[in-house]
Amino acid sequence: MNETLTSCPVCGGNSFVTERTCTDFVATGQEFSLQRCTHCTLLFTNPRPDSRHISPYYQTDNYISHTSSKKGAIYFLYDIVRLISQSNKLKKINERLKNKTSLLDVGCGLGYFLNTAKKDGWKVEGLDVSEEARTHVKQHFGIDVHKEEAIKGFPDASFEAITLWHVLEHFHNLQEWVIDMGRVLKPGGLMFVAVPNSESYDANHYQSFWDGYDVPRHLYHFNHKSIEVLFSKNGLTVVDRLPMIYDSYYISWRSEIHKKSLLGFLKAVIIGQISNWKARKSRNYSSVLYIIKHADK
Ligand SMILES: [Zn+2]
Repeated sequence: MNETLTSCPVCGGNSFVTERTCTDFVATGQEFSLQRCTHCTLLFTNPRPDSRHISPYYQTDNYISHTSSKKGAIYFLYDIVRLISQSNKLKKINERLKNKTSLLDVGCGLGYFLNTAKKDGWKVEGLDVSEEARTHVKQHFGIDVHKEEAIKGFPDASFEAITLWHVLEHFHNLQEWVIDMGRVLKPGGLMFVAVPNSESYDANHYQSFWDGYDVPRHLYHFNHKSIEVLFSKNGLTVVDRLPMIYDSYYISWRSEIHKKSLLGFLKAVIIGQISNWKARKSRNYSSVLYIIKHADK
């Protein structure tokens, strides 16, 4: 069943304009509207499948984030880039947090990042909605991953680092997650939240074909302002905006596939490069890694 939001999931405002229609290119071919809150500028999928009816939209071989199968050269390349990007992610954390104590990866998927952090000396825990993913992480890496609701059971100030790699945009109960994560984040700890940026050059270039919209799995299509409003109203503050450099190429490549382009891979490399280059001043990278801390600690 679809649900229609009548108040903005970030600021609670109730004035929206419909901005565009996007297609679910991955699973169903259905179309979904994106509406923008006139107050905080959040763009969000509305109406959207409710939390009990979203899982069929993830039932597809094409949803690469949660698959480990290797098909062809481009998927091999994807695996290589994934390895490099795991260590880049960890580097950004280790540069800012010197005590490698506890790290929570929310929506850890198949656990590649968790395993990278564990090998580096972090005490890691993971949360994931998928039982298949939880089992995979346990079997391959010996790391315990809990169901997402387990966050409710963690004591206050449990984690030095909390990471969300392209996860926040999937949560139905967005505010509740931000409150729970703020509660379990230690004073002086940091959250690392990577999300697609709907104000990036590649988003503007690909319009409704932009893979970052990924409706209806992506419920929110954040920009700098809506992210800042979301966290600041929950006592948290954004202290840095970093690039996810490889995402511009990957998202552009997927967008070219949606467009059924000739020479799409080549075009994606060019658009991805321009996107990274244009974002150097605006910080409007294809995906942005927001670094977030307690506002008062
Ligand atoms: Zn709003």
